[in-house]
Amino acid sequence: MNTTRDNKQEKTAKPGATARGFARLDNEAFPDFTPGSVWLVGAGPGAPGLLTLLGFHGLAQADVVVYDALVNEDIFKWTQDEAQIEFAGKRGGKPSAKQQDISLRLVELARENKRVLRLKGGDPLTFGRGGEECETLAAAGIPFRIVPGITSGVGGLAYAGIPTTHRDTNHSVLFLTGHDSTGDVPLGVDWEKVSNASPVIVMYMAVRNLPKIAETLLEFGRNPNEPIAVVSNASLPEQSVHSTTLGQIPNSLEIVKLPTPALVVLGNVVDFHKTLSWYVSSLRENTLG
Ligand code: SAH
Repeated sequence: MNTTRDNKQEKTAKPGATARGFARLDNEAFPDFTPGSVWLVGAGPGAPGLLTLLGFHGLAQADVVVYDALVNEDIFKWTQDEAQIEFAGKRGGKPSAKQQDISLRLVELARENKRVLRLKGGDPLTFGRGGEECETLAAAGIPFRIVPGITSGVGGLAYAGIPTTHRDTNHSVLFLTGHDSTGDVPLGVDWEKVSNASPVIVMYMAVRNLPKIAETLLEFGRNPNEPIAVVSNASLPEQSVHSTTLGQIPNSLEIVKLPTPALVVLGNVVDFHKTLSWYVSSLRENTLG
């Protein structure tokens, strides 16, 4: 927990954004955000427009927001002017705040009788350690609510025109993290089973270890001609998609240098990118999504 951000961003709506939709929400009975409680909210993959309505409501009520590195800071235009914004991620080579310190900070803020909004990239419970934070809150007797978010492994791929499932290609999908707490390829994974378990594998945090992962999958019989894509900065104006085949990865020098954050997706769903890419440059001018 190293910085407290000044929250003086532009809050005026752009002329193109009609008030129509939001005016209707004014009459909705959203759940109370009780002082002394914590809302653990998923911010979605990147574009602010991918925040859920409940998340949006929580942001508008929060006294304090504690957020992680992958959260798009544009979202803070929807907080109250006086809301306190705290960064809890890793930045500029500095080590990230320890997980236990973050959890205890949430307890501390809740005990100050604040409405505490813990904001995480994507979905808070998907490779996001949200479960650990909730365990600490539960043990401390702090009331909390979980507001799921669109995980990047699904919503981010949608921005690349890659469906996670399609009846012509796969009836299952496997989500995997490409590194463990030490940064290495996770050893706790049964790679032989993973290689053969599902026609589509979506990998988070996997770019750096991708050559090693690809080698392992090939070793256990995965087809070298299978398409694989790396989707960087999904749902953001700088989104890019790099596709190749699995067999090319171990010898590729460029793959580990691709921009991050990035998702890796292996399987025939990757081919849909050619026909279903819809997030074209003219659409990227609108940074809401
Ligand atoms: N809870 C998050 C995942 C956190 S782990 C979620 O549900 O999406 C962080 C990893 O998520 C990154 O290393 C990357 O693999 C992926 N990721 C998050 N945002 C991304 C984005 N905008 N584009 C591509 N990958 C993203």
